[in-house]
Amino acid sequence: MDLKKYELPNLPYSLDALEPYISKDIMDVHYNGHHKAYVNGANATIDKINSIVKGETKGYDLAGVVRNLVFNVNGHKLHSLFWRAMAPSGKGGGKPGGILGDMIEKQYGSFDTFKQLFTDSMKSLTGTGWTVLLFDKETGRLEISTIENHFINHIAELPIVQIVDEFEHAYYLQYKNNRNAYIDAWWNVVNWDFSEEVLKRYL
Ligand code: MN
Repeated sequence: MDLKKYELPNLPYSLDALEPYISKDIMDVHYNGHHKAYVNGANATIDKINSIVKGETKGYDLAGVVRNLVFNVNGHKLHSLFWRAMAPSGKGGGKPGGILGDMIEKQYGSFDTFKQLFTDSMKSLTGTGWTVLLFDKETGRLEISTIENHFINHIAELPIVQIVDEFEHAYYLQYKNNRNAYIDAWWNVVNWDFSEEVLKRYL
């Protein structure tokens, strides 16, 4: 198998598709700036590892190199999921049907209870990170969780069914320090078709 570089994936919609909930300016900086930087950082770190392997780089800090790799690769992969987990204004939001709708009813009693818990999780995250909905095939349960930074707390093997970026760069240009307003707006662009696709793959 040929070794490849990481690549910035195409956005599944235009930069202004999430307006008015998430502005075109945010999407431009977030996708073309931040996400691209994670892709470049991941590729640069792999180049560095290759040069270490070849003996071309001396006096390296391997723990630091690995930390850079995890930060940038996860940054790339989490953003790739995040874009797909949102849908253009008018096409997203609402309640999930299908498998996820049934699972939420069964586990939380109602969508409103789930929505409240997921919102509480998003609004109570301190510092920098993500709120995610995970699925554990072993228990059949959904788990609301957070990934601090790009990697702390993430449970191995549990696929991400839904995901929200809560880094300041995800909302500051439009919402300033009012993260709660961004969180409330996000519910209008959540893409439940993405969640359903993930669940079907892992059930
Ligand atoms: Mn981000």
